[in-house]
Amino acid sequence: MVNSRNCGSCTACCTVKAIAAAELIKAPGLHCPQCDKSGCVIYETRPDPCRTYMCAYLSTDWFEDRGRPDRSGVLVDIDVEPPPAGYAHVATIHPFRDPARVLAAPYPELIARLIGAGCAVYLSGSGPPGTLNAIALLNGMFDAAAAAGDLQAVRAGLEHTLARIAAHAFVPFSVADAQARVAEDARRRGSP
Ligand code: SF4
Ligand code: SF4
Repeated sequence: MVNSRNCGSCTACCTVKAIAAAELIKAPGLHCPQCDKSGCVIYETRPDPCRTYMCAYLSTDWFEDRGRPDRSGVLVDIDVEPPPAGYAHVATIHPFRDPARVLAAPYPELIARLIGAGCAVYLSGSGPPGTLNAIALLNGMFDAAAAAGDLQAVRAGLEHTLARIAAHAFVPFSVADAQARVAEDARRRGSP
């Protein structure tokens, strides 16, 4: 965690992200029923995915205070999920309030820097609450622009990708699929 940075009054991830745990299954885009104005009401006993999650605002020094997700409207993950084949690291940029927010600083610079450093970078977009997010891998079409530090080309690529995400056929989050994943994880860990 960066310095003494903490979540403060932010609860963005409690709405934006899906939770799949034995104690709680929640679709992306829906406010967690355990979250009230003061934050998580089951904080001491919150599920493991909540206990271990840390967004990049907390885990890196990439953002100023105004980059906290509830202030910026953008949630950034770094190495929360396993990276795709061929990459050592993975970042996911999720502009959950206004997709166009990702076109403004610091995001084009950050995306170019991460891609230039060989990190897989996904742009994630929200559909209607309760549907699975759409994600697009930016590497490949962004490699040349990132290598040249051409932020105008990065922004043009982001606009193109946002248009693709907006046209995506969003599908409902499946509680049954989440329950199956939780059961499979428990089986792998040897839990009853
Ligand atoms: S989005 Fe980041 S800062 Fe906000 S509550 Fe979640 S972990 Fe904390
Ligand atoms: S259980 Fe608590 S920490 Fe987890 S999503 Fe809900 S409110 Fe957030």
